[in-house]
Amino acid sequence: MSESVTSSGARGMTVESAFAGMRGVSPVMFRAGCPDCRERFELTAGALRLAIGASSRTTFYSFTCPECGASVRKPAGERIVELLTGGGVRTLRLHSTL
Ligand SMILES: [Zn+2]
Repeated sequence: MSESVTSSGARGMTVESAFAGMRGVSPVMFRAGCPDCRERFELTAGALRLAIGASSRTTFYSFTCPECGASVRKPAGERIVELLTGGGVRTLRLHSTL
C-alpha cells in the first residue's frame, strides 16, 4: 500500500490547453469600422445584428460604435451573412419567405 498517487487535478491546465478547450465556444470577433469617427475595432457576435431582407439590397448588419455611440448600418453581402450567422450573430428576417 505504498503506491503514492499524487493528486494534482490542476495539472495540464496550461494556457494552450485552456485555449484549445475554449475553441468551440470562444466568441468570434468581427472586425468593423465606424464611418462616423473612423475608429476601427473588433466586435463580438453579441454586439452585431444582422437583418436579412428580401434582396441583398435590404440585407445589412448593424452595430453601435463603441467609440462614439453611433449606430452603424452596413450592407451585408452573401459572404458576410454567412460569416455573421456562422459566428452566432443574432439574425432578424425582415422578409419571411415561408
Ligand atoms: Zn464611431
